[in-house]
Amino acid sequence: MSTTSERPDRHDPATLHELSTAVHAGNRSVGGAIRTPIVMANAYDLPEDPSTLDWSGTDVPLYTRNSGVNQLGLQAKLAALEHAEDAVALASGVAALHALFLTTLRSGDHVVATDVGYVALRRLLGEILPERYGVESTFVNTSDLAAVEAAIRPNTKLIHTETITNPTIRVADIAALAEIAHRHGALLSVDSTFTPPGWYRPLEDGADLVIHSLTKYINGHGDALGGAVLGSKELVAPVRCDAMVDVGGVISPFNAWLILRGSVTLPLRLRQHIAGARAVAEALDADPRIALVRHPDLKSHPQHELAARQFPNGSGAMIAFSLDGGPDVQNQFVSNLRLITSAVSLGHDESLIVQVSHDEPHVEAFSDIFQRNGLLRLSIGLEDPADLVEDVQQALDLTLPR
Ligand SMILES: *Cc1c(COP(=O)(O)O)cnc(C)c1O
Repeated sequence: MSTTSERPDRHDPATLHELSTAVHAGNRSVGGAIRTPIVMANAYDLPEDPSTLDWSGTDVPLYTRNSGVNQLGLQAKLAALEHAEDAVALASGVAALHALFLTTLRSGDHVVATDVGYVALRRLLGEILPERYGVESTFVNTSDLAAVEAAIRPNTKLIHTETITNPTIRVADIAALAEIAHRHGALLSVDSTFTPPGWYRPLEDGADLVIHSLTKYINGHGDALGGAVLGSKELVAPVRCDAMVDVGGVISPFNAWLILRGSVTLPLRLRQHIAGARAVAEALDADPRIALVRHPDLKSHPQHELAARQFPNGSGAMIAFSLDGGPDVQNQFVSNLRLITSAVSLGHDESLIVQVSHDEPHVEAFSDIFQRNGLLRLSIGLEDPADLVEDVQQALDLTLPR
């Protein structure tokens, strides 16, 4: 039999504050060790009489695609952090998006989704599901509630948005979208990757399902891919059975272990991310060589008031901006940076910048300046804010001397 056990809680987990939850939730004892080891086993001991065992079960370690020590621990931790009844951990954020749509949509159903969002979202909902599986989709600006309302059809089963859009930093009003969805008998799903728990919990504003790319802030160290779907037990159970056990999007024990470990410092890291983001956003906002900068904490952001109300602890550490001048100027700026790294991904310990081409359709949807110049998407890491501001300023001075 398995020697796995959760260490008996001497505290009531429901009364813990966020910092304590991040340290303690999901940590399971194996063989007496006080930290969960990595259990790289494909299969687990069966009971002497397996005749009553549910071979498709997902709660007892049996086979690692059904369940495992490290997945179970990570799932418990994620649910505790997000204040969700249940969570399923998957191989990547895109596996979580796919799991969400596979489970909530059938042929002939309609989904209303944000017109600006993660690239794979467009392919999944714009091409793969409509062309091969008969799902209908409409892309709208989910910050425009009238446009969302107008896009609803009798067969609309799901509204899907990002809390803050990737890459244009537009903010969605989650409580208002939940009200619209529920009035029309649909579910609201929210990609909250840009706003992990600590900054925001969409379920508390009425969202039915939340997805995260764990690859980003929740792991936080840039060394493992993972994804999760969170919500009520009723909605998450089919995601676990269908997308994990029978479609196979399971996370590896090693990645689950890395992400569980990384998430211990999530609340602490978010404080530093936001301090750095505010310092850099303000420096960019004050510089006349910057054509446009978007961060929801800036008063110049069109949805600053919504962001301040919805994200009282800080509205993320992602900044979109562009320098005066065309795409070549943006490229020059990036090559002049010395500390900030040019690479995709976000939410890592190290600050990352990526150029988003000026002719991508979703850029057009936000601003004519971004459309003309292209935009730079900056993920503020954990470096000292003074060093980040200094790097941006020296690169600006080299690119556009005063
Ligand atoms: C990165 C990202 C994803 C995809 O996550 P992966 O872990 O890379 O598969 C989905 N949504 C958003 C908002 C992201 O930033």
